[in-house]
Amino acid sequence: MENGKVRKVVIAGGGTAGWLAAIALTHQFRERLEVVLIESEQIGTVGVGESTVPPIRNFHRFVQIDEQEFLRAVAGTFKLAISFENWLRPGDRYIHPFGITGQSTLVCGFHHFWLDSLRRGMKSELGDYCLETLAARADRFALPPSPQVNYAYHLDAGLYARFLRGKAEGYGLKRIEGKIREVRQNPESGFVESLLLEDGQVVAGDLFIDCTGFRGLLIEQTLKTGYEDWNQWLPCDRAVAVQTESVGPPVPYTRAIAHDAGWRWHIPLQHRVGTGWVFSSRHMSDDEATSRLLNDAAAKPIRDPWLVPFRSGRRLQAWNKNVVSLGLASGFIEPLESTSIHLCMTSIIRLVELFPFEGIPQSLVDVYNHTGRIEMEHVRDFIILHYHANQRDGAMWKTCREMELPDSLSIRLRAWRERAHAWQGANELFRVDSWTHVMLGQGIVPQQHHPLSDTLSDEDMRRLFAGVRKPIEEAVAGMPSQQEFIDRYCKASPEVWAGRKPAMV
Ligand SMILES: Cc1cc2nc3c(=O)[nH]c(=O)nc-3n(C[C@H](O)[C@H](O)[C@H](O)COP(=O)(O)OP(=O)(O)OC[C@H]3O[C@@H](n4cnc5c(N)ncnc54)[C@H](O)[C@@H]3O)c2cc1C
Repeated sequence: MENGKVRKVVIAGGGTAGWLAAIALTHQFRERLEVVLIESEQIGTVGVGESTVPPIRNFHRFVQIDEQEFLRAVAGTFKLAISFENWLRPGDRYIHPFGITGQSTLVCGFHHFWLDSLRRGMKSELGDYCLETLAARADRFALPPSPQVNYAYHLDAGLYARFLRGKAEGYGLKRIEGKIREVRQNPESGFVESLLLEDGQVVAGDLFIDCTGFRGLLIEQTLKTGYEDWNQWLPCDRAVAVQTESVGPPVPYTRAIAHDAGWRWHIPLQHRVGTGWVFSSRHMSDDEATSRLLNDAAAKPIRDPWLVPFRSGRRLQAWNKNVVSLGLASGFIEPLESTSIHLCMTSIIRLVELFPFEGIPQSLVDVYNHTGRIEMEHVRDFIILHYHANQRDGAMWKTCREMELPDSLSIRLRAWRERAHAWQGANELFRVDSWTHVMLGQGIVPQQHHPLSDTLSDEDMRRLFAGVRKPIEEAVAGMPSQQEFIDRYCKASPEVWAGRKPAMV
C-alpha cells in the first residue's frame, strides 16, 4: 500500500461473494482500481445459495445486469414468497409473501383493520389482500405494468458465478487460478501485504477482500478476528444438499418444510430442483438426515448429496485492518429466509460507498462494521422468531419454545402481542408486512389492534376490503402460469445448464 492509498484490490475466493464483489468494484471504479480475483477449482465453492430476496433486483440494476439475459444464463425462476409448511405444527401452512398487504394509513397498518374484521365476525385470511400470495397460491406469474409485483429469483449458483465472472472480466478484472498457501503480513502493522500461491506466485495488494467461505483464510485464520456464535438461538448447524430432476413445472416460491430437527428447502429452477435438509446435529445424525432427504425429495437425484456444516453467527469485525470479509467468511445466518446473498450485496454496496481510495480511516471501518452488525442482528431475530413460536413436539422444538430470546426480539414480540404493533427500522430488510405474516403464521395472535379501525362501520370495512381484493384477484386471474411466462420471457437453452454454452450467451 503506497502512502496508504488503495489502488489495487485482491479478492480471495470465487464463490458468489467473490464474483459479486468483483463485478461491483470493476463496474463502478473501472480504470481507477486494479482488481484481481484468486480462486481454486480444486477447493470449489459451497455449491448452495440459490434462493434470493427482492433487493437482488436493485443490485442487478446497480451493476447494469439485464434481467432476461441473467435469467437465461442461470436457468432462473421467479420467487414471490416462501411457503412455510409444518412450522406451527405438522399439517399447517402459511405463506410469507414479498408484496404489500392491503392498504395501510400513515399511522395504522392494514393488519389492524383485518384483525378488527375477524373480531366482527368477517372471515378472510390476511394473505387474501396480497397480490403475491394469491399469485403464489395459483402458481402464476407475470410482470404487468400495474399492479407492481414484488419478486426475487431462484438461480443455479454455479451458473450465477460463471455469469458474474464473464461480466467482471468484461470490465477488466484479472482472474488467477490457484490455491493460496500463505497470507503474508506486515510485521509491524499486521496489515496483509500479499498472498503466496501454491505455484509460487506472489499476489500483492492494498486492500484484500476475503471471500474464502467458512474458512475465512485472511479474516480469521490470519487476523484472528473472532466470531460471535448464535447457536443458542439458531439450533441448526448442518445441511445435506442434493439436486434432483424436476417432476413438474416450477412453483413461484421457495418451500421451507419443517421436520423433527430442522427443515427442508425446495428450490425449483428451470432444469432441476435444489433441495436440502437443514438440521441440528444434536438432534439428528448425518446418516438419518441424508436418508430422510432422499426419501422426502421424491425425485431422482442428479448428483450425490453433499454435507455442509455451518455455524450461524457473525465475524466480530467484518472489516479488520486492510481485510474486508464478505459472504460466508463474514458470518452466516442459516438459510431459512434466503438472506445471505442479500447481506453480501448490501455489504458490497456499503464498501463501494465508503471505498478508502486515500487510505483506511478507522472511522469508516467502524461505520461499516456497525451498520453490518445491525443488519445481521435484525435478520437473526426474524429467523429466531420462526423457531421460537412453534407448537410442535420434539426436543429441538421444545428447547426453541423455551429459550431466552435476544432483548431486541423480546421487545418486538411484546409490542405485537399487546397491541399488534410491528415496525421496520433503518437498515432493516424485513418490512412490517413480513413481521405480520410470520408472527400470525407462527400462531402469535395479538390481544388488541389499533383503535383507529373502530372508526369504520362494518359496511365501510367491507367496502375497503372488497376494494383491495377485487383488483388483485382480477390481476392474478389474468396471469399465465409461471412456466408459460418463463417460456416466453427467459427460457434457458439446455446447452447452458449442460455447460456446453457460456452462461452469458
Ligand atoms: C446450507 C446452505 C444453504 C444456503 N442457502 C442460501 C440461500 O438459499 N440463499 C442465500 O442467499 N444464501 C444461501 N446460503 C449462503 C450462500 O451459499 C453463500 O452466501 C454464497 O454462496 C456465498 O458463498 P461464498 O462465496 O462466501 O463462499 P464459497 O462458495 O465457499 O466460496 C469460497 C471461494 O473461496 C475459494 N477458496 C477458499 N480457500 C481458498 C484458497 N486457499 N485458495 C484459493 N481459493 C480459495 C474457493 O475455491 C471458492 O471459490 C446458503 C448457505 C448454506 C450453508
